[in-house]
Amino acid sequence: MNLGQPAFVAAPLTPDHALATQWLSQFGAALAQLDKPGIRALFDADCHWRDLFAFTWSITPSEGVDNIANLILIKQACVKARDFKLAEGRQGPRRLKRIGVDVLEILFQFETDIGHCYGVLRLLASDPSKAFQLLTSLNELTGFEEQTGKRRPTGAAYSRNFGGTNWQDQRLESQAYNDREPTVLIVGGGQSGLSVAASLVLLGVDTLLIDKYPRIGDSWRKRYHSLALHNITDLNNLPHLPFPPHWPSYLPKDMLGNWLEVYAQTMEINNWTNTELGSATYDESEARWTAVLRNNDGTERTVRPRHLIFANGLVGKPSIPDLPGLKDFKGEVMHTSAFTSGAAWSGKKALVLGTGTSAHDVAQDLHSNGADTTIIQRGSTTVVSIDPSLHLTYALYDGITIDDGDLLSSINTLPVAKRNFKQVSVRMVDLDRKLIDGLIARGFKWDQGEDDTGYQLKIRTRYGGYYLNAGCSDLIVSGDIGLLQFDQIERFAPEGALMKDGSIKPADLLIMGTGYVPQEVVVKELLGTEIAEKVGPVWGIAPDGEMNNMWRRTSQEGLWFVGGSFTNCRIYSRYVAMQIKAIEEGLIPRS
Ligand SMILES: Cc1cc2nc3c(=O)[nH]c(=O)nc-3n(C[C@H](O)[C@H](O)[C@H](O)COP(=O)(O)OP(=O)(O)OC[C@H]3O[C@@H](n4cnc5c(N)ncnc54)[C@H](O)[C@@H]3O)c2cc1C
Repeated sequence: MNLGQPAFVAAPLTPDHALATQWLSQFGAALAQLDKPGIRALFDADCHWRDLFAFTWSITPSEGVDNIANLILIKQACVKARDFKLAEGRQGPRRLKRIGVDVLEILFQFETDIGHCYGVLRLLASDPSKAFQLLTSLNELTGFEEQTGKRRPTGAAYSRNFGGTNWQDQRLESQAYNDREPTVLIVGGGQSGLSVAASLVLLGVDTLLIDKYPRIGDSWRKRYHSLALHNITDLNNLPHLPFPPHWPSYLPKDMLGNWLEVYAQTMEINNWTNTELGSATYDESEARWTAVLRNNDGTERTVRPRHLIFANGLVGKPSIPDLPGLKDFKGEVMHTSAFTSGAAWSGKKALVLGTGTSAHDVAQDLHSNGADTTIIQRGSTTVVSIDPSLHLTYALYDGITIDDGDLLSSINTLPVAKRNFKQVSVRMVDLDRKLIDGLIARGFKWDQGEDDTGYQLKIRTRYGGYYLNAGCSDLIVSGDIGLLQFDQIERFAPEGALMKDGSIKPADLLIMGTGYVPQEVVVKELLGTEIAEKVGPVWGIAPDGEMNNMWRRTSQEGLWFVGGSFTNCRIYSRYVAMQIKAIEEGLIPRS
């Protein structure tokens, strides 16, 4: 993966360039003439289109020749897409296999009445006149481009402002919100909130971000001592500002926490820490929220933003089940989110309930610190080793810039994504065969996900139910970490777990790796039942195959949800910012 600028070496035109250009010009001509047969003729029967705000002002998947032709022509009447050509300065056409299909893959650019757009086209290698997949994606709003590079501010407002305010004075004044209301309030200063905030700043949208923790980055700093990210550094870059190139392959949590703080400062993000959203109500007539913010010192302040973005962590609020006999247990009970280190538990006995990523990591940390550790499994779990199996998911980014990789990775609609997950999962299982057999032999309930799609679909459906193995599975296989099944336990007793055979599994500590309550529960608490019911589920797969309420307008005017992996944040934060900018500039309605 190349994080630098692509080399602008004029490549000789190849027959593939000619094929790509021919398809694009026919597509442009058919769109211009609203020629449905012309559009239909350009797609294979097995065809898939995903639009990211270029034609539909939403994230819109579409399948099949008729659906695609109908929808694209309806939208074309408004957006007037034109000037289709190969993307300048980006990856040229390549022949490769995607999702088991031999394709000619093309990155292209085009214009609409709204903005500058990019797209990806996968033509069938066997018949390059037909498209298998199409992505269309808004890149910038015309007239409201990000203020970067040649558009950077002059700095005249504060540089060499003799006798006046300097940059620091103006930043402090801007952050104080003494004389104005923020246009956008972002709740949560983790990677999701920060990446949207940075994108809004670059579009000149007045944005205040709050976090209940004392320092930006604490969401990572407060996690357990041994934590390092599970996928590689390049894939975890935030938008606009990549990590320093000498940073390690897997980032430790404090390094990442510090980076988030630097990011907030460098991207000039107005933020209030020690500040929690208490509640918010929406005034439809004024199209503004009234949000009550509570400082840790006990004071309150009300702000009236037009947009409220929930970036509070899809996995932010611990779920602690009421287990039989738990109140009798004399040892310590702690959720994984409260666990910091196993150092204090050396020589003690620990039970870890759950087999997700955090539960496994905590069990490994306890074991490494000398605790006699047993993991308790409730449901079956997908296990994938971070090396080499997880590397299969990075292949899309091999040899290209991260921007090109992000564009390519945005193309799959759910049916195609499922095909892809299944093919990748089969290869992962091959690579992990020995580990998986060892786990099963120990009595671990392992699964390959719905219809063998592996862990990747589980991320979308439930954000859990899998472990990316950083060594804990090997310790279970070797017996260094014990394994119990939850259904072997009758109830908890003062000394530990009372087993159905009458024996006691003694414990000093019970860690609850039992996950988190869904976002809709948090929404209900903070915004009330009416809004929570209007909006419905957040995350999980929506009826159209996209993620419920994520990154696009919701049925509650002015309410947005962001979250997910670093890759999700990097890719989707800019679309959220562009939608809000477009609403504020009157280009699209608020809902
Ligand atoms: C062991 C482990 C390894 C992981 N490895 C990776 C990886 O390699 N790559 C990857 O992409 N992801 C990884 N993840 C997933 C990652 O943690 C989450 O995706 C990420 O934390 C989500 O970021 P976020 O900004 O949405 O939420 P969070 O990081 O949870 O941040 C939410 C913020 O909102 C604040 N907040 C919540 N409620 C309020 C309120 N009412 N008022 C004010 N502030 C509030 C919180 O204080 C917090 O700072 C890993 C997770 C774990 C546990």
